[in-house]
Amino acid sequence: MRKQIVAGNWKMNKNFQESTQLANELVNKVGDVSLDNTRVIVAPTFVNLSGVISATTGSNVEVAAQNMHQAKSGAYTGEISAEMLTSLGLKTVILGHSERREYFGETDAILAEKVNAALENKLEAIFCFGEVLEDRKSNNHFNIVESQIKKGLFHLEASAWNNIVLAYEPVWAIGTGETASPEQAQEMHAFIRKIVANKYNQEIANNVSILYGGSVKPSNAKEIFSKEDVDGGLIGGAALNSEDFIALVKSF
Ligand code: PEP
Repeated sequence: MRKQIVAGNWKMNKNFQESTQLANELVNKVGDVSLDNTRVIVAPTFVNLSGVISATTGSNVEVAAQNMHQAKSGAYTGEISAEMLTSLGLKTVILGHSERREYFGETDAILAEKVNAALENKLEAIFCFGEVLEDRKSNNHFNIVESQIKKGLFHLEASAWNNIVLAYEPVWAIGTGETASPEQAQEMHAFIRKIVANKYNQEIANNVSILYGGSVKPSNAKEIFSKEDVDGGLIGGAALNSEDFIALVKSF
């Protein structure tokens, strides 16, 4: 059975002490929540990973990186490899966030390489994709999403899908306060599951968790997460406050 996931992307927010404090708060608060089939993941920025890992060790809160470089090692000043992440004990990395695509030139081809590097190092990839507003307005959003998934993931063998989580994040809904309606999210998630089933098989499609991201907050999470093909959320703003984030975890 596929897992429900609430993953917080802290982006370039919070210094070392603030990140550790937020992690401590989450560990304390998540202790009271029954997490039968739900994973709770937080993704602080690289330099704060070690503090958050220490704060969450032995708890139900998992830690992920927000990005990584596709090369094994070498002359890539300022970059971080998959092996560096696993050497910290990490098991998950977010790849292809729209901010990485838009501001840092991460193309579908680069992202396919990053996915390969992550999987070769036994890292699970939370693979993000989603259309911009013009694509939705021109009714091109299904084509865009299909193309991003195809180019980033459809070269993988079926067995690799055990380590893939999908995150549909319409760019027009990220950090804007505007959310896809639960119906829009469900429609796209069902489409995504269908194209995965067509390419691989129904079992893989049924087992892959598909997260929605884009201005999810405690006031709208319940309705979005209740949709059949929505298995949780990738959360930006609301992940920076422990009360809000725990409220999202309780929304299932
Ligand atoms: C995100 O950046 O992945 C995101 C969904 O942000 P927000 O929740 O702030 O829209």
